[in-house]
Amino acid sequence: MTRSSVCVTVTAKTTAELRAKRDSITDADLVELRLDSVNDPNAAGALQGRRLPVIVTCRPSWEGGSFRGSEEERCRLLADAHALGADYVDVEWRARFDDFLTATGGRRVILSTHDFQQTPSDLFETVRSMSATGAEILKVATKANRLGDCLSLMQIGSAHAKHGRIVVIAMGEYGLPSRVLARRFGSAWTYTGELDSIGQLSAPVLIDHYNFRALGEQTDVYGVVGSPVSHSVSPAMHNAAFRAARLDAVYLPLRAADADDFIGFARAVGLKGASVTIPFKVALFDRVDEVYAVARRVGAINTIRAMDGRLVGENTDAAGFLRPLQDRSLPLSGMRVSILGAGGAARAVAIALASSGAEITVHARDSQRAQQVAMIVSAKAGHWLPAPGTWDLLINCTPIGMWPNTDVSPIPEAMLTGEWVYDLVYNPPVTRLLRDAEHAGLKTIGGLDMLVAQAHEQFQWWTDSRPPAGVMRTAAEKRLAEFRAHEDHVS
Ligand code: NAP
Repeated sequence: MTRSSVCVTVTAKTTAELRAKRDSITDADLVELRLDSVNDPNAAGALQGRRLPVIVTCRPSWEGGSFRGSEEERCRLLADAHALGADYVDVEWRARFDDFLTATGGRRVILSTHDFQQTPSDLFETVRSMSATGAEILKVATKANRLGDCLSLMQIGSAHAKHGRIVVIAMGEYGLPSRVLARRFGSAWTYTGELDSIGQLSAPVLIDHYNFRALGEQTDVYGVVGSPVSHSVSPAMHNAAFRAARLDAVYLPLRAADADDFIGFARAVGLKGASVTIPFKVALFDRVDEVYAVARRVGAINTIRAMDGRLVGENTDAAGFLRPLQDRSLPLSGMRVSILGAGGAARAVAIALASSGAEITVHARDSQRAQQVAMIVSAKAGHWLPAPGTWDLLINCTPIGMWPNTDVSPIPEAMLTGEWVYDLVYNPPVTRLLRDAEHAGLKTIGGLDMLVAQAHEQFQWWTDSRPPAGVMRTAAEKRLAEFRAHEDHVS
Protein backbone atom coordinates (compact mmCIF):
# COMPACT_ATOMS: atom_id res chain seq x y z
CA MET A 1 0.00 0.00 0.00
CA THR A 2 1.24 3.51 -0.84
CA ARG A 3 1.89 5.64 2.21
CA SER A 4 2.33 9.39 2.52
CA SER A 5 5.78 10.81 2.98
CA VAL A 6 7.10 13.19 5.61
CA CYS A 7 8.45 16.57 4.56
CA VAL A 8 10.25 18.81 7.05
CA THR A 9 10.04 22.55 6.47
CA VAL A 10 13.30 24.32 7.30
CA THR A 11 13.75 28.03 7.92
CA ALA A 12 16.96 29.85 8.90
CA LYS A 13 18.54 33.29 8.95
CA THR A 14 21.39 32.45 6.58
CA THR A 15 21.99 29.99 3.76
CA ALA A 16 24.76 28.31 5.79
CA GLU A 17 22.37 27.80 8.70
CA LEU A 18 19.68 26.54 6.31
CA ARG A 19 22.13 23.91 5.01
CA ALA A 20 23.15 22.92 8.53
CA LYS A 21 19.53 22.48 9.59
CA ARG A 22 18.77 20.60 6.38
CA ASP A 23 21.61 18.17 7.03
CA SER A 24 20.59 17.54 10.64
CA ILE A 25 17.32 15.98 9.44
CA THR A 26 17.35 12.21 9.39
CA ASP A 27 13.76 11.10 9.88
CA ALA A 28 12.10 12.69 6.81
CA ASP A 29 11.61 11.75 3.16
CA LEU A 30 12.10 15.26 1.85
CA VAL A 31 13.00 18.72 3.09
CA GLU A 32 11.39 22.02 2.17
CA LEU A 33 14.00 24.79 2.06
CA ARG A 34 12.36 28.13 2.71
CA LEU A 35 14.62 30.54 0.85
CA ASP A 36 12.35 33.42 1.87
CA SER A 37 13.43 33.00 5.50
CA VAL A 38 17.13 33.62 4.81
CA ASN A 39 18.79 37.01 4.48
CA ASP A 40 21.04 35.93 1.61
CA PRO A 41 18.83 33.65 -0.53
CA ASN A 42 20.74 31.73 -3.14
CA ALA A 43 19.62 28.54 -4.79
CA ALA A 44 23.04 27.00 -5.38
CA GLY A 45 24.08 27.49 -1.76
CA ALA A 46 20.85 25.98 -0.47
CA LEU A 47 21.13 22.90 -2.72
CA GLN A 48 24.84 22.26 -2.29
CA GLY A 49 25.68 18.84 -0.82
CA ARG A 50 22.07 17.84 -0.09
CA ARG A 51 21.42 14.23 0.87
CA LEU A 52 17.63 14.17 0.95
CA PRO A 53 15.29 15.28 -1.85
CA VAL A 54 14.32 18.93 -1.46
CA ILE A 55 11.53 21.34 -2.27
CA VAL A 56 12.72 24.89 -2.84
CA THR A 57 10.20 27.49 -1.75
CA CYS A 58 10.55 31.27 -1.69
CA ARG A 59 7.25 32.47 -0.29
CA PRO A 60 6.32 36.14 -0.84
CA SER A 61 4.80 38.17 2.00
CA TRP A 62 1.46 38.29 0.14
CA GLU A 63 1.22 34.49 0.48
CA GLY A 64 2.30 34.25 4.12
CA GLY A 65 6.06 34.19 3.51
CA SER A 66 8.97 36.50 4.30
CA PHE A 67 10.47 37.31 0.87
CA ARG A 68 10.62 41.08 0.42
CA GLY A 69 12.39 41.34 -2.96
CA SER A 70 10.79 41.78 -6.36
CA GLU A 71 8.78 39.13 -8.20
CA GLU A 72 11.48 39.04 -10.89
CA GLU A 73 14.14 38.18 -8.28
CA ARG A 74 11.90 35.57 -6.77
CA CYS A 75 11.13 33.97 -10.12
CA ARG A 76 14.85 33.95 -10.95
CA LEU A 77 15.72 32.23 -7.64
CA LEU A 78 13.12 29.55 -8.29
CA ALA A 79 14.21 29.09 -11.91
CA ASP A 80 17.83 28.76 -10.73
CA ALA A 81 16.81 26.12 -8.19
CA HIS A 82 14.94 24.22 -10.90
CA ALA A 83 17.84 24.43 -13.34
CA LEU A 84 20.25 23.24 -10.62
CA GLY A 85 18.18 20.10 -10.18
CA ALA A 86 16.02 20.82 -7.14
CA ASP A 87 13.67 17.88 -6.76
CA TYR A 88 10.72 20.24 -6.59
CA VAL A 89 10.19 23.98 -6.81
CA ASP A 90 7.11 25.50 -5.18
CA VAL A 91 5.36 28.23 -7.18
CA GLU A 92 2.28 30.08 -5.96
CA TRP A 93 -0.84 29.82 -8.11
CA ARG A 94 -1.50 33.51 -7.55
CA ALA A 95 2.03 34.46 -8.74
CA ARG A 96 1.07 33.61 -12.33
CA PHE A 97 4.57 32.50 -13.25
CA ASP A 98 3.11 31.17 -16.51
CA ASP A 99 6.39 31.40 -18.44
CA PHE A 100 8.10 29.28 -15.79
CA LEU A 101 5.34 26.68 -15.94
CA THR A 102 5.51 26.60 -19.74
CA ALA A 103 9.31 26.39 -19.77
CA THR A 104 9.38 23.51 -17.30
CA GLY A 105 6.27 21.78 -18.64
CA GLY A 106 5.19 21.65 -14.99
CA ARG A 107 7.78 18.94 -14.29
CA ARG A 108 9.18 19.11 -10.73
CA VAL A 109 6.82 22.02 -10.06
CA ILE A 110 4.49 22.24 -7.05
CA LEU A 111 1.73 24.76 -7.73
CA SER A 112 0.47 26.00 -4.38
CA THR A 113 -2.37 28.05 -2.97
CA HIS A 114 -2.75 29.25 0.63
CA ASP A 115 -5.57 30.90 2.55
CA PHE A 116 -4.65 31.76 6.14
CA GLN A 117 -8.15 32.96 7.05
CA GLN A 118 -10.58 30.31 5.88
CA THR A 119 -11.30 27.33 3.66
CA PRO A 120 -13.06 29.03 0.75
CA SER A 121 -16.14 27.53 -0.81
CA ASP A 122 -14.78 27.75 -4.39
CA LEU A 123 -11.73 25.53 -3.78
CA PHE A 124 -12.91 22.85 -6.21
CA GLU A 125 -12.91 25.36 -9.06
CA THR A 126 -9.49 26.70 -8.02
CA VAL A 127 -8.03 23.20 -7.98
CA ARG A 128 -9.53 22.45 -11.39
CA SER A 129 -7.84 25.55 -12.84
CA MET A 130 -4.56 24.76 -11.09
CA SER A 131 -4.68 21.22 -12.47
CA ALA A 132 -5.05 22.56 -16.02
CA THR A 133 -1.59 24.20 -15.82
CA GLY A 134 0.13 20.83 -15.99
CA ALA A 135 2.03 21.33 -12.72
CA GLU A 136 3.28 17.96 -11.47
CA ILE A 137 1.96 18.44 -7.94
CA LEU A 138 -0.73 20.69 -6.46
CA LYS A 139 -0.61 22.00 -2.90
CA VAL A 140 -3.73 23.40 -1.24
CA ALA A 141 -3.35 24.83 2.27
CA THR A 142 -6.29 26.61 3.89
CA LYS A 143 -7.21 27.60 7.44
CA ALA A 144 -9.73 25.30 9.05
CA ASN A 145 -12.24 27.08 11.28
CA ARG A 146 -14.12 23.89 12.05
CA LEU A 147 -13.61 20.15 11.57
CA GLY A 148 -15.95 20.33 8.57
CA ASP A 149 -13.27 22.31 6.71
CA CYS A 150 -11.05 19.23 6.90
CA LEU A 151 -13.77 17.32 5.08
CA SER A 152 -13.77 19.78 2.16
CA LEU A 153 -10.03 19.28 1.79
CA MET A 154 -10.37 15.52 2.12
CA GLN A 155 -12.87 15.49 -0.75
CA ILE A 156 -10.61 17.63 -2.94
CA GLY A 157 -7.50 15.62 -2.06
CA SER A 158 -8.97 12.18 -2.56
CA ALA A 159 -10.72 13.18 -5.81
CA HIS A 160 -7.54 14.66 -7.31
CA ALA A 161 -5.30 11.83 -6.09
CA LYS A 162 -7.08 9.45 -8.49
CA HIS A 163 -5.39 11.11 -11.48
CA GLY A 164 -2.66 13.40 -10.11
CA ARG A 165 -0.49 14.16 -7.11
CA ILE A 166 -1.66 16.63 -4.50
CA VAL A 167 -0.99 17.73 -0.93
CA VAL A 168 -3.91 19.18 1.04
CA ILE A 169 -3.46 20.81 4.43
CA ALA A 170 -6.03 22.23 6.81
CA MET A 171 -4.11 24.76 8.89
CA GLY A 172 -4.72 25.44 12.59
CA GLU A 173 -5.85 23.24 15.47
CA TYR A 174 -9.07 22.16 13.72
CA GLY A 175 -6.97 20.92 10.82
CA LEU A 176 -4.78 18.38 12.63
CA PRO A 177 -6.54 15.35 11.07
CA SER A 178 -5.45 16.51 7.60
CA ARG A 179 -1.80 16.34 8.68
CA VAL A 180 -1.88 12.99 10.46
CA LEU A 181 -4.33 11.26 8.09
CA ALA A 182 -2.47 12.52 5.02
CA ARG A 183 -2.99 9.26 3.15
CA ARG A 184 -6.74 9.30 3.78
CA PHE A 185 -6.78 12.92 2.54
CA GLY A 186 -5.07 11.92 -0.72
CA SER A 187 -1.86 13.82 0.15
CA ALA A 188 1.43 12.69 -1.36
CA TRP A 189 3.17 13.95 1.79
CA THR A 190 2.58 15.97 4.92
CA TYR A 191 4.57 18.98 6.04
CA THR A 192 6.17 19.02 9.50
CA GLY A 193 8.39 21.52 11.27
CA GLU A 194 8.47 24.42 13.63
CA LEU A 195 5.60 26.47 12.19
CA ASP A 196 3.24 25.64 15.06
CA SER A 197 1.28 28.88 14.50
CA ILE A 198 -0.28 27.18 11.47
CA GLY A 199 -0.60 23.82 13.22
CA GLN A 200 2.54 22.09 11.94
CA LEU A 201 3.60 19.11 14.03
CA SER A 202 7.25 18.28 14.51
CA ALA A 203 8.46 15.21 12.60
CA PRO A 204 9.20 13.26 15.83
CA VAL A 205 5.68 13.93 17.14
CA LEU A 206 4.11 12.87 13.84
CA ILE A 207 6.25 9.77 13.44
CA ASP A 208 6.65 8.59 17.05
CA HIS A 209 3.50 9.83 18.75
CA TYR A 210 1.02 9.26 15.88
CA ASN A 211 2.92 6.32 14.37
CA PHE A 212 2.57 8.08 11.01
CA ARG A 213 4.65 5.64 8.98
CA ALA A 214 2.24 2.82 9.80
CA LEU A 215 -0.96 4.71 8.95
CA GLY A 216 -2.90 3.84 5.82
CA GLU A 217 -6.30 4.35 4.30
CA GLN A 218 -7.79 1.50 6.35
CA THR A 219 -6.37 2.61 9.71
CA ASP A 220 -9.09 2.86 12.38
CA VAL A 221 -9.47 6.45 13.54
CA TYR A 222 -10.34 7.45 17.11
CA GLY A 223 -10.01 10.77 18.90
CA VAL A 224 -10.86 13.05 21.75
CA VAL A 225 -13.41 15.73 20.92
CA GLY A 226 -13.31 18.99 22.86
CA SER A 227 -12.53 22.68 22.60
CA PRO A 228 -9.74 23.36 23.26
CA VAL A 229 -8.20 19.92 23.17
CA SER A 230 -4.47 20.31 22.52
CA HIS A 231 -3.67 19.90 26.25
CA SER A 232 -5.37 16.48 26.45
CA VAL A 233 -3.36 13.52 27.78
CA SER A 234 -5.66 11.02 26.05
CA PRO A 235 -3.89 10.95 22.64
CA ALA A 236 -0.64 10.00 24.35
CA MET A 237 -2.31 7.18 26.31
CA HIS A 238 -4.37 5.70 23.50
CA ASN A 239 -1.74 5.98 20.76
CA ALA A 240 0.81 4.28 23.02
CA ALA A 241 -1.68 1.50 23.78
CA PHE A 242 -2.67 1.02 20.11
CA ARG A 243 0.98 0.75 19.20
CA ALA A 244 1.84 -1.66 22.00
CA ALA A 245 -1.17 -3.80 21.10
CA ARG A 246 -0.11 -3.69 17.41
CA LEU A 247 -3.51 -2.40 16.32
CA ASP A 248 -3.85 -0.50 13.04
CA ALA A 249 -5.42 2.48 14.79
CA VAL A 250 -4.67 6.10 15.58
CA TYR A 251 -6.13 8.56 18.10
CA LEU A 252 -6.31 12.29 17.35
CA PRO A 253 -7.12 15.47 19.26
CA LEU A 254 -10.31 16.66 17.52
CA ARG A 255 -11.16 20.26 18.19
CA ALA A 256 -14.75 20.81 17.09
CA ALA A 257 -16.68 24.05 16.64
CA ASP A 258 -19.88 22.47 17.98
CA ALA A 259 -21.54 19.08 18.44
CA ASP A 260 -22.85 18.94 14.84
CA ASP A 261 -19.39 19.76 13.49
CA PHE A 262 -18.03 16.70 15.30
CA ILE A 263 -20.90 14.41 14.29
CA GLY A 264 -20.46 15.35 10.61
CA PHE A 265 -16.73 14.66 10.80
CA ALA A 266 -17.19 11.40 12.71
CA ARG A 267 -19.60 10.02 10.12
CA ALA A 268 -17.57 11.20 7.11
CA VAL A 269 -14.25 9.66 8.24
CA GLY A 270 -15.92 6.59 9.77
CA LEU A 271 -14.59 7.38 13.24
CA LYS A 272 -14.53 4.19 15.32
CA GLY A 273 -14.74 5.88 18.68
CA ALA A 274 -14.08 9.03 20.66
CA SER A 275 -13.44 10.34 24.12
CA VAL A 276 -15.56 13.38 24.90
CA THR A 277 -14.34 16.28 26.96
CA ILE A 278 -15.35 19.84 27.88
CA PRO A 279 -17.62 21.38 26.54
CA PHE A 280 -19.29 18.47 24.70
CA LYS A 281 -20.12 15.95 27.43
CA VAL A 282 -23.74 17.08 27.58
CA ALA A 283 -24.15 18.51 24.06
CA LEU A 284 -23.13 15.19 22.48
CA PHE A 285 -25.32 13.27 24.95
CA ASP A 286 -28.24 14.79 23.03
CA ARG A 287 -26.76 14.18 19.56
CA VAL A 288 -25.63 10.54 19.54
CA ASP A 289 -28.00 7.78 18.39
CA GLU A 290 -28.11 5.94 21.72
CA VAL A 291 -26.89 6.48 25.28
CA TYR A 292 -26.12 3.56 27.60
CA ALA A 293 -27.53 3.33 31.12
CA VAL A 294 -24.57 4.59 33.21
CA ALA A 295 -24.18 7.67 31.02
CA ARG A 296 -27.93 8.29 31.22
CA ARG A 297 -27.71 8.27 35.02
CA VAL A 298 -24.69 10.58 35.01
CA GLY A 299 -26.41 12.83 32.45
CA ALA A 300 -23.23 13.12 30.38
CA ILE A 301 -21.13 10.99 28.03
CA ASN A 302 -17.35 10.78 28.01
CA THR A 303 -17.04 8.04 25.37
CA ILE A 304 -18.56 7.32 21.95
CA ARG A 305 -18.36 4.12 19.96
CA ALA A 306 -19.49 3.61 16.38
CA MET A 307 -21.63 0.48 16.20
CA ASP A 308 -23.17 -0.60 12.86
CA GLY A 309 -23.21 2.97 11.62
CA ARG A 310 -24.72 4.33 14.84
CA LEU A 311 -22.94 6.46 17.42
CA VAL A 312 -23.42 5.16 20.96
CA GLY A 313 -22.56 7.16 24.10
CA GLU A 314 -21.25 5.80 27.41
CA ASN A 315 -19.57 7.17 30.53
CA THR A 316 -16.45 5.38 31.74
CA ASP A 317 -15.69 7.88 34.53
CA ALA A 318 -17.78 5.93 37.05
CA ALA A 319 -15.98 2.64 36.40
CA GLY A 320 -12.65 4.46 36.12
CA PHE A 321 -13.20 6.10 39.49
CA LEU A 322 -13.96 2.79 41.21
CA ARG A 323 -10.97 0.88 39.83
CA PRO A 324 -8.31 2.47 42.12
CA LEU A 325 -10.56 1.80 45.14
CA GLN A 326 -11.02 -1.83 44.07
CA ASP A 327 -7.28 -2.20 43.48
CA ARG A 328 -6.71 -1.11 47.10
CA SER A 329 -9.56 -3.30 48.38
CA LEU A 330 -11.17 -0.40 50.21
CA PRO A 331 -14.13 -1.67 52.27
CA LEU A 332 -16.63 0.92 51.05
CA SER A 333 -19.65 -0.53 52.83
CA GLY A 334 -20.40 1.66 55.85
CA MET A 335 -17.61 4.09 55.01
CA ARG A 336 -18.43 7.79 55.42
CA VAL A 337 -17.62 9.44 52.08
CA SER A 338 -17.58 13.20 51.50
CA ILE A 339 -17.64 14.36 47.88
CA LEU A 340 -16.43 17.90 47.20
CA GLY A 341 -18.07 19.52 44.16
CA ALA A 342 -21.33 18.95 42.29
CA GLY A 343 -20.32 18.96 38.61
CA GLY A 344 -20.11 16.15 36.08
CA ALA A 345 -17.30 14.28 37.85
CA ALA A 346 -19.11 14.46 41.20
CA ARG A 347 -22.22 12.94 39.61
CA ALA A 348 -20.19 10.09 38.10
CA VAL A 349 -18.50 9.48 41.47
CA ALA A 350 -21.80 9.52 43.38
CA ILE A 351 -23.34 7.05 40.90
CA ALA A 352 -20.29 4.81 41.08
CA LEU A 353 -20.56 4.70 44.87
CA ALA A 354 -24.36 4.42 44.99
CA SER A 355 -24.56 0.66 45.37
CA SER A 356 -21.42 0.28 47.50
CA GLY A 357 -23.11 0.72 50.88
CA ALA A 358 -21.05 3.87 51.57
CA GLU A 359 -22.68 6.78 53.44
CA ILE A 360 -22.36 9.58 50.90
CA THR A 361 -22.50 13.32 51.59
CA VAL A 362 -22.14 15.85 48.77
CA HIS A 363 -20.59 19.24 49.56
CA ALA A 364 -20.56 22.15 47.12
CA ARG A 365 -20.30 25.89 47.36
CA ASP A 366 -23.69 25.98 45.65
CA SER A 367 -25.90 24.07 48.11
CA GLN A 368 -28.68 23.59 45.56
CA ARG A 369 -26.33 21.86 43.16
CA ALA A 370 -25.06 19.69 46.03
CA GLN A 371 -28.65 18.70 46.78
CA GLN A 372 -29.35 17.86 43.14
CA VAL A 373 -26.41 15.47 43.00
CA ALA A 374 -27.22 13.98 46.39
CA MET A 375 -30.80 13.31 45.32
CA ILE A 376 -29.74 11.17 42.34
CA VAL A 377 -28.29 8.57 44.71
CA SER A 378 -30.44 9.23 47.79
CA ALA A 379 -27.45 10.71 49.62
CA LYS A 380 -27.15 13.75 51.91
CA ALA A 381 -26.02 17.26 51.02
CA GLY A 382 -23.66 18.83 53.54
CA HIS A 383 -22.04 22.17 54.26
CA TRP A 384 -19.22 23.65 52.23
CA LEU A 385 -16.70 22.74 53.67
CA PRO A 386 -17.30 19.45 55.52
CA ALA A 387 -16.44 19.53 59.25
CA PRO A 388 -13.37 17.59 60.40
CA GLY A 389 -14.12 14.16 61.75
CA THR A 390 -17.19 13.63 59.55
CA TRP A 391 -15.65 11.46 56.82
CA ASP A 392 -13.43 8.44 56.31
CA LEU A 393 -12.87 9.04 52.59
CA LEU A 394 -12.73 12.56 51.15
CA ILE A 395 -13.00 12.91 47.34
CA ASN A 396 -12.13 16.14 45.57
CA CYS A 397 -14.31 16.54 42.47
CA THR A 398 -13.56 20.24 42.01
CA PRO A 399 -10.76 21.61 39.83
CA ILE A 400 -9.16 23.30 42.85
CA GLY A 401 -5.41 22.59 42.82
CA MET A 402 -5.30 21.94 39.08
CA TRP A 403 -2.56 23.48 36.95
CA PRO A 404 -1.78 26.41 36.88
CA ASN A 405 -3.19 27.05 40.39
CA THR A 406 -1.19 24.24 41.90
CA ASP A 407 -0.58 25.81 45.28
CA VAL A 408 -4.18 25.79 46.45
CA SER A 409 -6.23 23.08 48.11
CA PRO A 410 -9.99 22.80 48.63
CA ILE A 411 -9.50 22.15 52.33
CA PRO A 412 -6.90 23.43 54.82
CA GLU A 413 -4.42 20.86 56.15
CA ALA A 414 -5.60 21.48 59.71
CA MET A 415 -9.06 20.23 58.73
CA LEU A 416 -7.79 17.02 57.13
CA THR A 417 -8.96 14.07 59.18
CA GLY A 418 -10.27 10.63 58.23
CA GLU A 419 -8.37 7.82 56.56
CA TRP A 420 -8.26 8.39 52.80
CA VAL A 421 -8.12 11.35 50.40
CA TYR A 422 -8.84 10.81 46.68
CA ASP A 423 -8.16 13.80 44.43
CA LEU A 424 -9.58 13.59 40.89
CA VAL A 425 -7.24 16.33 39.69
CA TYR A 426 -4.40 14.69 37.71
CA ASN A 427 -2.37 17.70 36.57
CA PRO A 428 -0.22 17.84 38.63
CA PRO A 429 -0.29 14.13 39.57
CA VAL A 430 0.47 15.04 43.21
CA THR A 431 -1.66 18.02 44.21
CA ARG A 432 -1.36 20.30 47.19
CA LEU A 433 -4.33 18.45 48.74
CA LEU A 434 -2.54 15.10 48.40
CA ARG A 435 0.71 16.51 49.78
CA ASP A 436 -1.13 17.96 52.79
CA ALA A 437 -3.03 14.71 53.31
CA GLU A 438 0.17 12.66 53.28
CA HIS A 439 1.71 15.12 55.70
CA ALA A 440 -1.31 14.66 57.97
CA GLY A 441 -0.73 10.89 57.87
CA LEU A 442 -3.61 9.98 55.54
CA LYS A 443 -3.56 7.52 52.64
CA THR A 444 -3.97 9.08 49.21
CA ILE A 445 -5.11 8.30 45.67
CA GLY A 446 -4.27 10.65 42.79
CA GLY A 447 -6.44 11.49 39.77
CA LEU A 448 -4.00 9.87 37.35
CA ASP A 449 -5.14 6.44 38.59
CA MET A 450 -8.70 7.28 37.55
CA LEU A 451 -7.65 8.90 34.29
CA VAL A 452 -5.76 5.78 33.26
CA ALA A 453 -8.53 3.47 34.50
CA GLN A 454 -11.27 5.26 32.54
CA ALA A 455 -9.04 5.21 29.43
CA HIS A 456 -8.59 1.43 29.94
CA GLU A 457 -12.37 1.10 30.00
CA GLN A 458 -12.64 3.07 26.74
CA PHE A 459 -9.95 1.02 25.02
CA GLN A 460 -11.63 -2.20 26.07
CA TRP A 461 -15.05 -1.06 24.86
CA TRP A 462 -13.67 0.05 21.49
CA THR A 463 -11.35 -2.83 20.75
CA ASP A 464 -12.77 -5.73 22.80
CA SER A 465 -9.27 -6.23 24.21
CA ARG A 466 -7.39 -4.99 27.25
CA PRO A 467 -4.54 -2.50 26.72
CA PRO A 468 -1.07 -3.84 27.53
CA ALA A 469 -0.35 -3.30 31.25
CA GLY A 470 1.35 -0.07 32.27
CA VAL A 471 1.57 1.44 28.78
CA MET A 472 -1.12 4.08 29.24
CA ARG A 473 0.14 5.14 32.65
CA THR A 474 3.72 5.57 31.42
CA ALA A 475 2.49 7.57 28.41
CA ALA A 476 0.29 9.81 30.59
CA GLU A 477 3.12 10.50 33.04
CA LYS A 478 5.47 11.32 30.17
CA ARG A 479 2.93 13.63 28.54
CA LEU A 480 2.27 15.47 31.82
CA ALA A 481 6.01 15.86 32.44
CA GLU A 482 6.43 17.28 28.90
CA PHE A 483 3.52 19.63 29.54
CA ARG A 484 5.09 20.91 32.77
CA ALA A 485 8.50 21.30 31.13
CA HIS A 486 6.92 23.27 28.28
CA GLU A 487 4.92 25.51 30.64
CA ASP A 488 7.97 26.12 32.86
CA HIS A 489 9.86 27.04 29.71
CA VAL A 490 7.27 29.55 28.44
CA SER A 491 6.44 31.11 31.81
P1 NAP B 1 -17.42 20.72 36.47
O1 NAP B 1 -18.57 19.98 35.88
O2 NAP B 1 -17.09 22.06 35.98
O3 NAP B 1 -17.67 20.80 38.06
C1 NAP B 1 -16.76 21.44 38.92
C2 NAP B 1 -17.33 21.52 40.32
O4 NAP B 1 -16.33 22.13 41.13
C3 NAP B 1 -18.59 22.39 40.43
O5 NAP B 1 -19.40 21.89 41.45
C4 NAP B 1 -17.99 23.74 40.80
O6 NAP B 1 -18.85 24.57 41.51
C5 NAP B 1 -16.87 23.31 41.73
N1 NAP B 1 -15.86 24.33 41.86
C6 NAP B 1 -15.11 24.84 40.87
N2 NAP B 1 -14.26 25.76 41.39
C7 NAP B 1 -14.52 25.83 42.71
C8 NAP B 1 -13.98 26.60 43.77
N3 NAP B 1 -13.01 27.48 43.56
N4 NAP B 1 -14.49 26.43 45.01
C9 NAP B 1 -15.48 25.54 45.23
N5 NAP B 1 -16.02 24.77 44.26
C10 NAP B 1 -15.55 24.91 43.02
O7 NAP B 1 -16.08 19.86 36.33
P2 NAP B 1 -15.94 18.28 36.34
O8 NAP B 1 -16.04 17.75 34.96
O9 NAP B 1 -16.87 17.72 37.37
O10 NAP B 1 -14.42 18.09 36.77
C11 NAP B 1 -13.99 18.42 38.09
C12 NAP B 1 -12.52 18.03 38.24
O11 NAP B 1 -12.38 16.63 38.14
C13 NAP B 1 -11.62 18.63 37.17
O12 NAP B 1 -10.41 19.01 37.76
C14 NAP B 1 -11.37 17.48 36.24
O13 NAP B 1 -10.12 17.56 35.57
C15 NAP B 1 -11.36 16.32 37.22
N6 NAP B 1 -11.70 15.07 36.55
C16 NAP B 1 -10.76 14.10 36.59
C17 NAP B 1 -11.02 12.90 35.99
C18 NAP B 1 -9.99 11.82 36.05
O14 NAP B 1 -10.07 10.88 35.27
N7 NAP B 1 -9.04 11.91 36.97
C19 NAP B 1 -12.24 12.66 35.33
C20 NAP B 1 -13.20 13.69 35.32
C21 NAP B 1 -12.90 14.89 35.94
P3 NAP B 1 -19.79 25.65 40.76
O15 NAP B 1 -20.85 24.87 40.06
O16 NAP B 1 -20.29 26.51 41.87
O17 NAP B 1 -18.88 26.38 39.80
